[in-house]
Amino acid sequence: MTKLKIAIQKSGRLNDDSVRLLKDCGIDLKNGVNKLKTEADNFPMEVYFLRDDDIPQYVEDGVADIGIVGENVVYEKNKDIGIIEHLGFGKCRLSIAVSRTEQYTGIAYLDNKRIATTYPVIVQKFLDENNINAEIHEISGSVEIAPGIGLADAIVDLVSSGSTLFMNGLKEVETVLRSEAVLVHTSGLSAEKKQILDKFLFRIRAVKKARNNKYILLNAPNDRLQQIISLLPGMKSPTVLPLAEEGWSSVHSVLSENEFWDIIEKLKDAGAQGILVIPIEKMIL
Ligand code: ATP
Ligand code: MG
Repeated sequence: MTKLKIAIQKSGRLNDDSVRLLKDCGIDLKNGVNKLKTEADNFPMEVYFLRDDDIPQYVEDGVADIGIVGENVVYEKNKDIGIIEHLGFGKCRLSIAVSRTEQYTGIAYLDNKRIATTYPVIVQKFLDENNINAEIHEISGSVEIAPGIGLADAIVDLVSSGSTLFMNGLKEVETVLRSEAVLVHTSGLSAEKKQILDKFLFRIRAVKKARNNKYILLNAPNDRLQQIISLLPGMKSPTVLPLAEEGWSSVHSVLSENEFWDIIEKLKDAGAQGILVIPIEKMIL
């Protein structure tokens, strides 16, 4: 039987969320004895656990058909692979940082400076686009200590909260790239594998939508019903059911995470009571 081969990070920041995504898509992995490779019990899929740096190459070569990896790695490795879907986790930015004591005046500051990074390809492209001449020092880790030990004047590194930079006496001065985990694919998948990929994508999109939305139930006095309904977007329009108690209705709808708190407050002000909010597992529109 044909199986779709997916490469995910073996351990590290993307591992948990990648495994969780498969699980939420209803794909159960066998508890493999072999930690390099496992397969799904209930979906035609084989899972390879790899270093994230190696995933683009494996996908280009077709050793894996698809993979989950940060956009930062995709752009740095520059392989012949395509991005199919943004996955909404592993969010970070690739930023330029300099010592907190430096006066940073703008990108021109970097002219003729030394920049330490593990992302030489992306950094060179950024410098070229901004007409900056700087010397890139490629190092493989602990980039944040480079300015302190006199190896570089600036660094380009991944940042999420900024606390690592802060602890090393650095300040973030420029964003080179915003990144999140993406699903990538090899070129030239067989028709059979494309079919499996389409099924997988359908599930991923249902899971992503569900994660961004909440199911909401509330009780409304009938004389306020119209006002309350007008506050709710709903997939089509909200469901309204009569309560056993005369003069009251139960209203059901779906709210997106972004507008959630805003709308809840307005609903309360409009007279809604007993508001229940429930996570949605899958959402198919
Ligand atoms: P591997 O052993 O697989 O090579 P790694 O040490 O290169 O792992 P991780 O630190 O686990 O990689 O990060 C994996 C990916 O997680 C990054 O490439 C990036 O896309 C994403 N990421 C999200 N937030 C951060 C962050 N604050 N710092 C670093 N990476 C982050
Ligand atoms: Mg890596």
